Amino acid sequence: MSMTPLTPNTDNINQDISREGLTKEKLLQPLYLLKPSNNYAVAKVQKFVHMRIEDLNELLGKEYEGIILDVDECVAPHHGEILPENVEHIASMVQQGIRVVIFSNMKASDRYQSVIDKTNGKVKVHMSKHAKPDSRGFTECCEKMELPPEKVMMVGDNFITDGGAIRAGIDFVKVEPIKTENEPIGKKLKRLPQLATRWFYEKLSNLYDKILKRKVIRT
Ligand SMILES: [Mg+2]
Repeated sequence: MSMTPLTPNTDNINQDISREGLTKEKLLQPLYLLKPSNNYAVAKVQKFVHMRIEDLNELLGKEYEGIILDVDECVAPHHGEILPENVEHIASMVQQGIRVVIFSNMKASDRYQSVIDKTNGKVKVHMSKHAKPDSRGFTECCEKMELPPEKVMMVGDNFITDGGAIRAGIDFVKVEPIKTENEPIGKKLKRLPQLATRWFYEKLSNLYDKILKRKVIRT
């Protein structure tokens, strides 16, 4: 699906570059993830709407105040629109005073506009030259929220990209990937290596959870 270019006359999103090419950090992340502490999610949830920050704070004894949010297959199908139920959920979090920054490796597009409008511009979109999983991009997101990493969680579907936040000292909440309906088979085949890697590290994380008896909130 092709995306309409973003609207430049807003301070939430402006000029951006794509972060989808190969980088050194992307090549190294599979190695980093072999270390159990780099491959740990404090919570594993079926759907983003199941994630309630007040519950996580209570269950984990944390004081999360901010969320870095992945888009593709976390709150939207791959390269698709953010699902209306997720727009609502983001808006309700913002209403509770949670700070939200969207951080995607895909170039910013007007598909974020629904969330920005719904939250009166309170949701920001972070554009970085440091593609996920480079820890610097996540650190920048914390700076944007004016929160220390301990008060921020990264919410995403993929240890290979979003999991880089862990190395920036940010807790990771893993969402089950949203299914992309009617994806052309050619496109899907092209994504197959990425999908297989995501699957592998997801299973490895589950295995580490079991062996090391790690505390993981599951919904
Ligand atoms: Mg994703």
